[in-house]
Order: sequence, then C-alpha cells, then structure tokens
Amino acid sequence: MSEAMAQRHLVSLQMDSEQAFSFEGHGSSNRYSSSRSHDTTEQKEEEALHTDHQPLDGLLESIGLGVWYCDLPFGKLTWNNTCKKHFGLSPDAEVTIDLFYELLHPDDRAATRQAMERSIAENSIYDIDYRTIGIDSQVHWIRAIGRCFYDDHNRPEHFDGIMVDITEHKSVEQMLREQAERLEEFEMRKDEFITMASHELKTPITSIKGYTQMLQNRFKKAGDGQALYFLSIINGQLNKLVNLVNDMLDISRMQAGKLHFRDALFDLDAVVLETVEHLQATTQTHELSIGSSANAQVFGDKDRIGQVIVNLLTNAVKYSPHANRVIVRISTNQEHVTVSVQDFGIGIDEEHRQKVFERFYQVRDITDKGAPGLGIGLYISNQIIERHKGWMQVESKRGEGSTFSFTLPLIREAPGRPQGLSYHRLDGVERNLIE
Ligand code: ADP
Repeated sequence: MSEAMAQRHLVSLQMDSEQAFSFEGHGSSNRYSSSRSHDTTEQKEEEALHTDHQPLDGLLESIGLGVWYCDLPFGKLTWNNTCKKHFGLSPDAEVTIDLFYELLHPDDRAATRQAMERSIAENSIYDIDYRTIGIDSQVHWIRAIGRCFYDDHNRPEHFDGIMVDITEHKSVEQMLREQAERLEEFEMRKDEFITMASHELKTPITSIKGYTQMLQNRFKKAGDGQALYFLSIINGQLNKLVNLVNDMLDISRMQAGKLHFRDALFDLDAVVLETVEHLQATTQTHELSIGSSANAQVFGDKDRIGQVIVNLLTNAVKYSPHANRVIVRISTNQEHVTVSVQDFGIGIDEEHRQKVFERFYQVRDITDKGAPGLGIGLYISNQIIERHKGWMQVESKRGEGSTFSFTLPLIREAPGRPQGLSYHRLDGVERNLIE
C-alpha cells in the first residue's frame, strides 16, 4: 500500500474507530479478512478523499490518541502526529520498524517484539505497555493496542492500532505501590514491636506480681491493714497491666497464626457464672448480674470464651462510669446460643459500631486518659468467636448504653443447672447472687 493510501487508511481507522478498536470479545479464531477490511477501507478512502480530516487529527491529538498502521512484513510505519510525539519525534519524521525498536527502552524491546509476533501468528490482540526513550531523551510509558489483518489466503497483510501515553497513570501506580510497600513494612515493624514489647514486659510483671503476693502474705501475718490496702491497689493496677500484655501477646500470636485452642465440650452457663463471680469480686462500682440462663453446652476452648466474656464485662464497666449495673443474658434457639452483656453507659454512635471490632480501633481520642486500653480487646474477642464458627454483634444508643453479644453453635442443652451455684429472683428476673 502506498504511503498516501496508508494515510487515508489511518483516516478510515479513525472514522471506523468504533469497529476497529472495539476489542471486546475478540480473540476467537475468526481471522480479520482483509477483503472485508479492503471493502470497507476502500469505500471509506473514497469518502476520506472528500473529507477534511484535519479536525479529526486535531481531536485525536488533543485527547492524546496515537493511531498507527504498517504493512506486513514490517518496514515503513505510518503514524499520526500523536504517535510521533509519544516517541519524541517531529511531525515530519520518517518512521521505520527499526527506528521504533531503537526508541524503545532496551528492557522492553524483546517483550514488545514477542507480543507483536504472537498477535500476528495467533490472530490475537496485541496489547502491551512499553517505555519509549525518545530523541528528546524523555521516557514515556505507552500502552499500545492493535491487531493484524489477513488477506484472502490468510496471510498477514497489515497491522494497525492505537497508542496512548500512560506515563502519569504509571507514576501514580508506582507511587501507590511504594506506599503500599511502606505501609506493609510499617505494619510488620509494628507487629514485631508488639511481640518484642509484650515478651519483654512479661518477665518483670510476673516478678512484681510474685513479690506483691509474698508481701501480702507477710502483712497479713503481721496484721498490717494499711499495707495490705496499698498492696491491693498495686495488685489491681498490675492486673490491668497483665491483661494488656496478654492482649498484646494474643495479637502477635494471631498474626503469626499461633494462637492455640484447647477444644472440648463445656457448659457455657458455668463459664459465664464463674467469670461474672470472679469479676464481681474486684468490681466495687457495678453490680454484675445474670438476667437469664440457658443450660447450654458448646464445643470450643473454655478459657478463650471466658476471655471474651471478661473483655465484654470489663468494657461494660469501663464505658459506663455513671451507671452501676451490668446485665448478662444467655439465650438459645434451635441451633445457637447467645451471650449478651448490657450496660447503661456512654453508648456508641452508629458510624463506629461495626468498626469497634477492628484492630486498634477506639471511638474515643487516644489522648483521652479516661479509659485505658489499646483498642484490641474486641478485635481479639471477635477473632476467637469467629474461630468457634460464631459471630459478634453490638446494639447501642449514644448516651443510653450498649449490648454486646456473641453467638455460638449450640451442641445441646445441658441436663441441668451447673451444680453448687445459687440463683434468686430480683426485679422480676432470675439472677445470680454475687456478694
Ligand atoms: P479498648 O477498650 O482497649 O479501647 P476494645 O477493643 O475492647 O478496646 O474496644 C474498642 C473500642 O470500642 C473502645 O475503645 C471503645 O471506644 C468502644 N467500646 C467497647 N465497648 C464499649 C462499651 N461497652 N460501651 C461503649 N463503647 C465501647
């Protein structure tokens, strides 16, 4: 094809862009026969002769769309001005296949050549990103899309397509990739720090706790009430520290997939009761009561489920400084058992409700010293419950309180109430008597 014809063909490509560049669904074995394209092309060439295509060139240039055409086997290439601009060439530059490869980034030459050869051999879409280093030494990222046309004997006849400059897109992509890598590294370092800090803290805390207990025994013998009172304060604060360190250890074990569970069938009511009693012993500000029980048996790690209940109860107390009661309820349906913990505290706005189960998420400002914590208790609880094939939920109204609950698969109803536990009725509901 002569250069003039090729130029006209470019115009026809531009005019026929919808057909020529709509590659959706392409890739079947149907070859693009040049007789079809010839007919269309020649008809359009005729029209193009009578058409002033300058405005179209201008439009393509303004949207940065390069249009290219080449007869096969490769020799001279016909490019519009936008293509030449992408390669740092002047509008009157002559382009050959050798010049094209020469202006490609050396690292992208082989892949581009292969992509072209594959497209021609397999009648598949040529779609590739490559870098050009133009005569102006500027590096541009280009995305080129094209396809081959064949003659009536299925011989490759010409190859054409479009190209766009995607340098900006690539640099944003690169920036995002670098940011993601930095974030990942930061996350990794944070996890390493948590693991290291929690292990380092564990030993001195254990030692302080041991000595506190020793002193408590001595002062008890000596009958020194005041010293015992001070020691009980130290012990209370130490317990908070122990809980924090345990949470940190759990988080790092979870990250490493090393949080172990000792699964067995157990009585959920008994665990709830035990935990409530245990916490009530160190809680003076709130009355913890069991509003309803269910005699439910579940399969899982009793201690881990106990840990979840402790977390919900301590939160209920912590986030209801102006209230004085917390109610725990256990209920069942055919397949599940639900434990809920209701408080009458500060509540949680809707926008935060689901996020509180995320790692390190805290509704309040971290500079707020009112309630200590790391924002990991609910995350750990949720992970533990999910590990038991259950789920957690929260219902809440700002200023009126919250009800956190978890639901687990029910194995069966226990034959009777846990032995040796006393209940009585108060305010019309059955409750555990905790003095
Ligand atoms: P922490 O209490 O250590 O901050 P958690 O993971 O246990 O971490 O809780 C995450 C956040 O959810 C808390 O910081 C708090 O803002 C909110 N939250 C949890 N429980 C309650 C509750 N009972 N009432 C109100 N807010 C709560």
